[in-house]
Amino acid sequence: MQDFIEKIYKAVAYERKQGFCDAQGNKFNFSEFIKNETKILLEKIDNPNKKTLLKEIEKTFDSYPEASIFERKNKIKSLYDYIEHLEKNQPLNKPIIKDTTKSYDSTLKQTNKIDDKNLTWEERPVQFIKGIGPKLAENLASAGIINIKDLFRHYPRKHLDYANRTQIKNCKIGQLVTIWGSIKDVNCFTPPNNKNITILSITVSDSTGKVKSSWFYGGANKYMQEQYKRRFPIGAQVLLSGEIKLDKYTKSFAIDKPEVEVLGNVDIDEVDSIHTNRIVPVYPLVEGLNLKWLRKTIKIALDTYSNEIEDHLPKWLKEQFNLFDLATSIREFHFPTDMDILEKARHRLVFDELFYMQLGFAYRRKQEQLHVDGIVFENTGTYVNQFLANLPFKLTKAQENVFKEITKDLGSPKPMSRLVQGDVGSGKTIVALLALLIAVQNGYQGAIMAPTEILAEQHFRKFKEWLEPLGLKVDFLVGSQTKKNRREVLDNLLSGATHVTVGTHALIQEEVNFKNLGLVVVDEQHRFGVVQRATLRGKGKNTEILTMTATPIPRTLALSLHGDLDISVIDELPPGRTPVKTVLIKGKGREKGWELIRDEVKKGRQAYVVFPLIEESEKLTAKAATVEAEKLQQKIFPELKIGLLHGQMKNSQKDEIMQQFVKHQIDILVSTTVIEVGVDVPNATVMVIENAERFGLSQLHQLRGRVGRGSDKSFCLLVSDKPGEISEKRLEIMTKTNDGFIIAEQDLKIRGPGEFLGTRQSGLPDFLLADLVRDTAILEEARNAARLVIEKDNELNFKEHKLMKS
Ligand code: ADP
Ligand code: MG
Repeated sequence: MQDFIEKIYKAVAYERKQGFCDAQGNKFNFSEFIKNETKILLEKIDNPNKKTLLKEIEKTFDSYPEASIFERKNKIKSLYDYIEHLEKNQPLNKPIIKDTTKSYDSTLKQTNKIDDKNLTWEERPVQFIKGIGPKLAENLASAGIINIKDLFRHYPRKHLDYANRTQIKNCKIGQLVTIWGSIKDVNCFTPPNNKNITILSITVSDSTGKVKSSWFYGGANKYMQEQYKRRFPIGAQVLLSGEIKLDKYTKSFAIDKPEVEVLGNVDIDEVDSIHTNRIVPVYPLVEGLNLKWLRKTIKIALDTYSNEIEDHLPKWLKEQFNLFDLATSIREFHFPTDMDILEKARHRLVFDELFYMQLGFAYRRKQEQLHVDGIVFENTGTYVNQFLANLPFKLTKAQENVFKEITKDLGSPKPMSRLVQGDVGSGKTIVALLALLIAVQNGYQGAIMAPTEILAEQHFRKFKEWLEPLGLKVDFLVGSQTKKNRREVLDNLLSGATHVTVGTHALIQEEVNFKNLGLVVVDEQHRFGVVQRATLRGKGKNTEILTMTATPIPRTLALSLHGDLDISVIDELPPGRTPVKTVLIKGKGREKGWELIRDEVKKGRQAYVVFPLIEESEKLTAKAATVEAEKLQQKIFPELKIGLLHGQMKNSQKDEIMQQFVKHQIDILVSTTVIEVGVDVPNATVMVIENAERFGLSQLHQLRGRVGRGSDKSFCLLVSDKPGEISEKRLEIMTKTNDGFIIAEQDLKIRGPGEFLGTRQSGLPDFLLADLVRDTAILEEARNAARLVIEKDNELNFKEHKLMKS
């Protein structure tokens, strides 16, 4: 199962990179690959719920090749959802796939009633365009293209430069070329030495020479082979683009898997110029429509209606940010004059997508500042000073700065909306505590919510240690408490006896009520949903919220997700830490790893050995970890004390094991990923991660952050027996840097935003063109522009800003 998921994710990442073109892999196209992997897993699995889910995946990807980019993205989104259901073994209540096609019929009926003169160009149904009748309109509607505006937004998935064609005799090996010729021969067969593949090959010639092109498919029957061949009628004109190679057997030129466009039976001079002799757009296909027809239709629509496009951005903004106007951008993005202009057109269109997202954020932020009241925490004094005086170390500069920003937020009547990002071990807990002290100082209660009981328990212990000397009462609320204990805590919260509460999700249950909750801190905030955060905040009046995360989200994502938040970064680790030395270990190298643990334990240190989630269940994972723990105990470290921690254990058991590890009654803690977040045992100096290739980089970084928390040199061993090329590259990044932000950036580049964040919390808006990995610079511009606009005119009432409102 885990293998399946990893393969699928990799394929999606690749497909994404290729611009959702149903990319050709070694053996299959993307969609064929997904279906094939699904089929293989289907045969292995008995669980009826999972079977249903897998069948849904198959069904979803059946129509992928015909789908528009928009639909393809949607399909991939539902794929993530299905996988999430699979992982949790949740039944499918309703079909996940979102039906994006509006009903063509109803739109048409509506529009028929209205005189067409009253319609703006955008609203006019596509049937207004010459050559589109009901049948074609229906085909377009199936891809969500109802009106002219939709048609303009059916953006090319790429462009091919046919302006620069090469004669075959002038081709050079390794050169990227576009060739125009006619099909001389077409062949489709299964080679006798490999029954699993099918080869399709064509020979194309112009007046100066011949070129051969081949495609490889999964095994196909005779019927399919005939279908493949029919794409290439002999004698038809074609354009081929790709890299020139030398064919091993014939010693003539070849282009493998070229971009190809069959022009049909035309005389070269007569070919409509929008398809040739220029940079031409390649559109995502719409079922029942061919590319050339689509190209022509969009051209006609642009010629007829693009003059009517009103630019919604004010002139000052376009000038300041050096943007093309909208009509030009749309025209040029479809049919570019040259590659530079294409880039500028794309820039403007991407800017628009990002700008409106940011405008929403800027607006909400402003509204909140104007209309929602926050508490004014005026008094910052005594507790904070006492606490700092008791602290055995000094705050880092970064901690001080962030605390200053927080103090300012708290002291102002505007509600705080701040996210503190800080790498693992950067000392976020103390900053949170300081903020809570200010709330208490001003007569309010404070609460901090953590995603796991282990973590909450750890915070609780520290908070008690720090706060009790100040005469403050700390309470603890989690799911696994006894009824009596819980009752007591609830009473304390309500009476106001408790100053600061530490807890898990248990804090947001209905029967939890506070006397006067002034500030909540949400630790590892990305583990909680928006609603959960809001619920906690709703436990008080005008309660302020501080969110924290150790997952360093790359800035582009942070801005796209939390554009309305202020972001503070603790970008410095407390002094005296030596960076964790990270090594990638394959196969036999493991022995050395055990040696290292033995040495460290001799010096009085401790170690973790972590196993990934395997196959489909926590249960199996727990079992595997158990077996390994026994093996380590009996065969490898008979002289050492080994403990075991996994998700199937009762909370009280988990706590006990953690306590033993903290007190150094355990030398080696064998664990699943339950220890991932926030666990702090400074005496641990070795982290061994088994099957490291199965983790995301950010997760590895989190795990690695469990060591290197004291002043001793620490080690992280990433064990991977057959990493494969991509995984190896990923893992090497870990060995090269300890900087969580760099790792996150790389992880994002490799996996793409959806997978990087996971679907559940992704919450990213849909973009047609914008790419959060590639378009960082444009995103920053868009954010600046949006804030500028809102600063100038917070309700968008100026005449020149009116069009931005919709
Ligand atoms: P994280 O940011 O990962 O939540 P913690 O708040 O758990 O990090 O801090 C990690 C460790 O560093 C803790 O043991 C904490 O007491 C210690 N620490 C925090 N700030 C400092 C500092 N300024 N100087 C020295 N040690 C610090
Ligand atoms: Mg923490």
